[in-house]
Amino acid sequence: MMKPLEQLVRKNIWSLAPYSSARDEYSGKEAHVFLDANENPYNEPYNRYPDPLQRELKSALKKVKGVPEENIFLGNGSDEAIDLAYRVFCNPGRDNVVSIAPTYGMYQVCADINDIEFRQVLLDDNYEMHADQLLAACDDHTKIIWICSPNNPTGNSLNRDEILKVINGFEGIVIVDEAYIDFAQQLSLRQELATHPNLIILQTMSKAWGSAAIRLGMAFASKDIINIYNKVKYPYNVNQLTQQQAMVMLKDPFEIDKYVKILLAERGRLMSAFQDLPICEQVYKTDANFFLAKMTDAQAIYDYLVDKGIIVRNRTRVQLCHNCLRVTIGNRSENNELLSALRQY
Ligand SMILES: *Cc1c(COP(=O)(O)O)cnc(C)c1O
Repeated sequence: MMKPLEQLVRKNIWSLAPYSSARDEYSGKEAHVFLDANENPYNEPYNRYPDPLQRELKSALKKVKGVPEENIFLGNGSDEAIDLAYRVFCNPGRDNVVSIAPTYGMYQVCADINDIEFRQVLLDDNYEMHADQLLAACDDHTKIIWICSPNNPTGNSLNRDEILKVINGFEGIVIVDEAYIDFAQQLSLRQELATHPNLIILQTMSKAWGSAAIRLGMAFASKDIINIYNKVKYPYNVNQLTQQQAMVMLKDPFEIDKYVKILLAERGRLMSAFQDLPICEQVYKTDANFFLAKMTDAQAIYDYLVDKGIIVRNRTRVQLCHNCLRVTIGNRSENNELLSALRQY
């Protein structure tokens, strides 16, 4: 059972009176003379402040994601939603969070910035998570559990029943980062939102949607959590150009299915070619647009590739990833270039 939200949210945030912008106070459509926001009447269409709550965009996202607008937060990348979680829930110097490890580095960086203890629970040798271990790492001051599925840098989806065990067994907030869900066989947890008020799901336009440059991240959660996120965020956190370009992408959501299909086919081809390389010892199963491969000597192979102008991610110093390279799936010619370089190593 989740603790009451009031007990989980920092006291100062719970009682915070948010900044009220001109656009918050008047957002009707009928008016035609806007002299309320100290904007410049010239230089259209860039002269006006954007919608602080991105209503048009959320309405388009609702259709694609099947999540009501009131359950959507949009931010400057998922990174904003990650940082906000600390600022909303965690008292610096007092609270802690629990996370799987290895995983995405931003959870720890934001914990460190906000002076929050970061407790790591190692995955097992198959990169699987065990709910009871995560729950055992929690105490009265644990506000958040971080789960990433499909996980970065390991690539695998975590067991859905184990994730649900964590959500059901924890009194605080569980954040499941689904940045790679569009590539996955595993279903999103979006349908679980209505029945799990302590769940926050993160998604992004940076990966399958091919829009890393525009910086648009999403958090799906209860209306109460979204309302608190909205009062803590910068008033105009998602700029107009980003909102416009996201609308363009959302007009044709089936385009994304094409990207995904091609990338998954290329992933299969690249992974089996890696399996045949004498310098590759193991290719790990993946549900994302990248895979992890254990090499004979990750550092030397990484340096060799850099020398040829080909950059992969060296994860050899990450826990449980000794001698591993993380390879993002590129287009056919990029993937071929990588393979021919490795065959000549
Ligand atoms: C790439 C990635 C993101 C995306 O972050 P943005 O700020 O939305 O670009 C989020 N989580 C994980 C685990 C990632 O790998």
